[in-house]
Amino acid sequence: MTPFLLVLSSPSGGGKTTIARALLQARTDVGYSVSATTRPPRPGERDGHDYHFLTGAEFERRVVAGEFLEHATYGGHRYGTLRAEIDRVLGNGCHAVLDIEVEGARQVMGRMPDAVRVFVLPPSAKVLVERLRSRDTETPETRRVRLARAAEELLAVTEYDYAVVNEHLRDAVNAVGAILDAESSRVARRRDLAGFVENLRQGVAAAATRDEGV
Ligand code: 5GP
Repeated sequence: MTPFLLVLSSPSGGGKTTIARALLQARTDVGYSVSATTRPPRPGERDGHDYHFLTGAEFERRVVAGEFLEHATYGGHRYGTLRAEIDRVLGNGCHAVLDIEVEGARQVMGRMPDAVRVFVLPPSAKVLVERLRSRDTETPETRRVRLARAAEELLAVTEYDYAVVNEHLRDAVNAVGAILDAESSRVARRRDLAGFVENLRQGVAAAATRDEGV
């Protein structure tokens, strides 16, 4: 298997983080790229697990040092994918799941065009609003900002390879898993294929010469 990047985007509250975490639980061939951010941790979030929480100065230092594959600003805070995270996950032989917003996803595609992009859609506006409300980590003002941004971000769906509607979590996770499996089978991604087929060919040709009941 040749591991690749799986970019998951959705408007805030669309459920991409939950899908990413569920995929990690369900499969051994995926790893999570832990992003860096300047946003403060929410209750229960752990440094190095949910995010690498950085000061603005530290984030900027890493930008200048070229440590980010992509980075963007969202809701007044900076977010970015560290190259070291991608190297770590791919180096373990796993597909790297990136849970990132659309501007960052565009940068990834410019730099790693064989990444697979999946856009996660909420089943309705009502559900999106409810999901954001039920996260009581948001104030009404940040919720309003996130919803306004969501309306913008939905337009980006046409830039993605796949769209998955997240009505029932299990179905959405299965759909993303099916995408991973299909993409893994692409001939262009199968670096091992040439050797495998050559072995097969030799075996088949030898059997033909021996005329083993062919
Ligand atoms: P939150 O603050 O809700 O955790 O994330 C806000 C937004 O930032 C979400 O859309 C999330 O996908 C996005 N985000 C998280 N990590 C990254 C990253 O490394 N790069 C970019 N571009 N966006 C990210």
